[in-house]
Amino acid sequence: MFIVRVEHDAELMSFIANLANQYHITSAAFAAIGALKSAKLGFYNQLTHEYMEDLLVTPQEVASCTGNVSFKDGTPFVHAHAVLSDQNGSTRGGHLIEGKVFAAEVQLFELLGDKVERKKDDVTGLSLWDI
Ligand code: ZN
Repeated sequence: MFIVRVEHDAELMSFIANLANQYHITSAAFAAIGALKSAKLGFYNQLTHEYMEDLLVTPQEVASCTGNVSFKDGTPFVHAHAVLSDQNGSTRGGHLIEGKVFAAEVQLFELLGDKVERKKDDVTGLSLWDI
């Protein structure tokens, strides 16, 4: 298990991918809490098979964020969902595309065993675990 303080101004998703790369982690689950300066959330349109993006440009608390690390196209791929709250306590949630960190803490649990790889799934249009 890794306990990490994410650097100020880091982009959360690439920070976790770089962490996995640095420590040769091929599969993991993680949770993150903290605050973001801005964020981009996604909602997957199940009819068009495209992500609709929601850009949040105001500071957000990371009320909850969970995700995993697996492999896609030979490199670590981070998949995360988050619930973010603004200064009024209003929340937005979804697929976390990116988040600019004000301060964040990550607990990452490395999963041992066979590498989990993602493959394109024709039914959903998503890259899903090939297990
Ligand atoms: Zn997702």
